[in-house]
Amino acid sequence: MDNVPQLLLVQQSLLKWAEQLNYQVLVGEQWLGGHLGVCWDATRRSDFNERMLKEPLWGMCEFRERVIWIHPAAAIEQRTALLVHELAHALLHHGGPYDTDLQEAEAEAVCGMISEAFSIPLNSGAYYSAEEISPAQLSEIELRASQAADQILVGISGGF
Ligand SMILES: [Zn+2]
Repeated sequence: MDNVPQLLLVQQSLLKWAEQLNYQVLVGEQWLGGHLGVCWDATRRSDFNERMLKEPLWGMCEFRERVIWIHPAAAIEQRTALLVHELAHALLHHGGPYDTDLQEAEAEAVCGMISEAFSIPLNSGAYYSAEEISPAQLSEIELRASQAADQILVGISGGF
């Protein structure tokens, strides 16, 4: 099945909504300054320094500057997923603490819910360690993620 037209539509609505949230979305490598280290997706924290040179940093949400940065090499499907993922961080994790497995799991859970709502595959490629998460935390993640997913779905519904 060709998902591209729907992905483009979802992506467009997400971009419009990000603007309404007062977030600037940059797709490209022009922005790597500012306060780095808020969300290093696809990057293990423990060996970040060695891996950051080898693996792309796919997306980042900079709360203070209100910037969402997306790697330009991300294909349409991943780009849409990254937008959802970073918007989830913007909604749920503003003010930190930053870059925990819980936060990554929450942002990815939001991706899964949006994916389900539109029946399109969304995989941001974000990394987190699932072993670090307890069953009690899992239900908390699900609750918070579903609230954020609802917020996103309502927020972008004007775009359809
Ligand atoms: Zn993330």
